[in-house]
Amino acid sequence: MARKAAAAEVITLDDGLWERVMEATHGAVAPCFQCGVCTATCPWGLLQEEPVNVRRLMHRAQIGIEQEDGAMWWCTTCRACEELCPRGVPIADVMLALRDLAWKDGGVPKGVSSVMWAMYWDGNPWRRPPTQRTGWSKGVDVPRFSPACDVLFYVGCTPSYDSRSQKVARALARIFGEAGVTFGTLGEREPCCGDAAYGLGQHDYLRQIIEANTRLFAEEGVSTLVTTSPHCYDMFANHYAKDSGLKPLHYTQYLATLIDEGKLRFERPFEATLTFHDPCYLGRANGVYDEPRAVLSAIPGVTLVEMQRSRADALCCGGGGGRMWIDTKAGERFADLRVADVAETGADILVTACPHCIACLEDSLKMAGSAVRVMDVAEVVAEALDVGGAS
Ligand code: SF4
Ligand code: SF4
Repeated sequence: MARKAAAAEVITLDDGLWERVMEATHGAVAPCFQCGVCTATCPWGLLQEEPVNVRRLMHRAQIGIEQEDGAMWWCTTCRACEELCPRGVPIADVMLALRDLAWKDGGVPKGVSSVMWAMYWDGNPWRRPPTQRTGWSKGVDVPRFSPACDVLFYVGCTPSYDSRSQKVARALARIFGEAGVTFGTLGEREPCCGDAAYGLGQHDYLRQIIEANTRLFAEEGVSTLVTTSPHCYDMFANHYAKDSGLKPLHYTQYLATLIDEGKLRFERPFEATLTFHDPCYLGRANGVYDEPRAVLSAIPGVTLVEMQRSRADALCCGGGGGRMWIDTKAGERFADLRVADVAETGADILVTACPHCIACLEDSLKMAGSAVRVMDVAEVVAEALDVGGAS
């Protein structure tokens, strides 16, 4: 007698879906040979009883089966799994391509559409009016950009609107002034770079943002632009057309150059033991590991110690890949795991260089009752220069 298959065992292969996934991912899942290293590497496995089954997700994408349980929305696009994938599968890109398909099929999680609407109506994911975009610069001399400036200071949405990150933007403006750099911002005309649309997989809208911004930057005569956030840096460096004429730099790269050129000099000691948390979009996504450390090491009095998981092995804060805009329960946040990593080093200050990392790490350290202070590299530099660090 033939065995009757249980309904749960019946899997329908959908050729149409397979073709759409292959097209959306440019065939990137094809080389996956199902070793499961990605599932074992993914930090969700350290926080949840059921890890995010990345291997299964890749398998379903490979053979054209509908994705289940919204697993692709957990991914922070930290790319830790990609570092170890023996087949070089661009796993985060596959996750984003699957999200893009979910938008087309109407299957996005609650709350995600409202972030896109905020970007559409207000020009930022923070749901704040564009007229408040320059509110961060109170008390700091911030000129309007002109093509005669050395650089455009691209502040970014989070440092423009989030009160904690505004301090970092002010610190940077003061540092640029101290170094004698001629800089300016686009003021209320500064657009969102599109990172939230990228991370949440709304790639049709992202293309529109990029086109409009490229026109605006050309109109304004922008060439070198220095970003506060590694996310904005990544957008301009890797997702805008290579012939757009833009030369993006993350501010840690720019400060390292200013120090090398002798334009930034530290006279006062800053006596503290620091440990640096590598933001995923600076480190793994763009290979910028040395510059933030070079900036911190140039300050007399600083002792820099490394966490066990650093550089390419660094643990994600949990705020990338659009996860800043999706709730994560307390106790299930990647940054919660960083508390122990920092404590092991004995550092007084946890330093990073990304507004999302600052928000996630500060939350987790506070929740854990840790006395360790969280600072941005820019705040450490501004405090060392005595130009107003965290103000
Ligand atoms: S690590 Fe790479 S090859 Fe292995 S299952 Fe994951 S995606 Fe496939
Ligand atoms: S990119 Fe990071 S969060 Fe996403 S599956 Fe890989 S390890 Fe997990």
